[in-house]
Amino acid sequence: MTKLINGKEIAQNLRNQLKAEIDSLKSKIGKVPGLAVVQVGNVAASSVYVKAKTKSAKEVGIDVIDHHLSQETSEKDLLELVYKLNNQDNVNGILVQLPLPNHINEQIILDSIHPNKDADGFHPLNVGKLSIASKNDENLLIPCTPYGCLIMLKGLDINLSGMNAIVIGRSNIVGKPMAQLLLKESCTVTVAHSKTKNLEEVCKSADIVVAAVGRPQMVKGGWIKKGAVVIDVGINRIKLNTNGEIKNKLVGDVDFIEAKKNAAAITPVPGGVGPMTIACLLRNTTIAFKNSQKN
Ligand code: NDP
Repeated sequence: MTKLINGKEIAQNLRNQLKAEIDSLKSKIGKVPGLAVVQVGNVAASSVYVKAKTKSAKEVGIDVIDHHLSQETSEKDLLELVYKLNNQDNVNGILVQLPLPNHINEQIILDSIHPNKDADGFHPLNVGKLSIASKNDENLLIPCTPYGCLIMLKGLDINLSGMNAIVIGRSNIVGKPMAQLLLKESCTVTVAHSKTKNLEEVCKSADIVVAAVGRPQMVKGGWIKKGAVVIDVGINRIKLNTNGEIKNKLVGDVDFIEAKKNAAAITPVPGGVGPMTIACLLRNTTIAFKNSQKN
């Protein structure tokens, strides 16, 4: 029987742990973590994500400091806000929701966030630390989506050490940090991308497949080795014609129904990686808060 990896449930468990930890910190030191959430403009998907992140943060006891700026905000004004938040004592984590409007350079903004307050784990210093720190370092701020994937993998009854893992996609926010995390677990890691030759063959040799491509159902069932574990990061909106009626559907990068026939365990879309990403953002904010208390 293929195990369905329930991201909703695992994320809920992580949020419960964080809530208990934040309650205990509050009673010991009288303070709770603070997360500044910055949104520029009104991209519909960003508003949905910001709303979900804000709601989840409040539920675990994190203070949310909300900054919703107009689409016309200049790069200079956004930078000034980030510098202000960097120096604000009640802010432990800063999240700037991407994408930013075209007139703002995203990398300049991400680099301006103080590395100790980098709730997304995207700052170059934290990217570097992820690459060189030991796997037991609990103080690291790690990109949320790949860390969520790792939690799901570690929750399975398998020994990751020595496994062949393929990460399809090499983005800075998912693919590359995912590869680093799997390497730390002593997996033998292949990172595939749009120029990879014979992707199907490479995929067939993997014990673990992490798909982060952004192409609906690109990874076919036949690419999955019998008994492999499949983590589907993709979130793609497609239109389905059901008896003449056009409906929107959310699908992953993996052909779930076919891949499930071969996989030992697989994440669904939705309800897999998505909820883990938000829970890991709250985890990073809590880590940043605890780190700030040590300084
Ligand atoms: P990017 O577009 O930044 O990266 C996509 C990667 O896929 C690139 O490295 C690209 O290769 C590779 N790729 C594209 N086409 C192919 C192909 N035909 N064969 C092999 N590789 C290919 O995407 P992200 O990493 O930001 O996101 C990936 C997916 O994950 C998206 O669906 C996104 O919505 C989803 N996502 C989900 C999250 C969640 O919380 N569940 C969070 C973040 C993302 P190359 O580098 O050569 O161009």
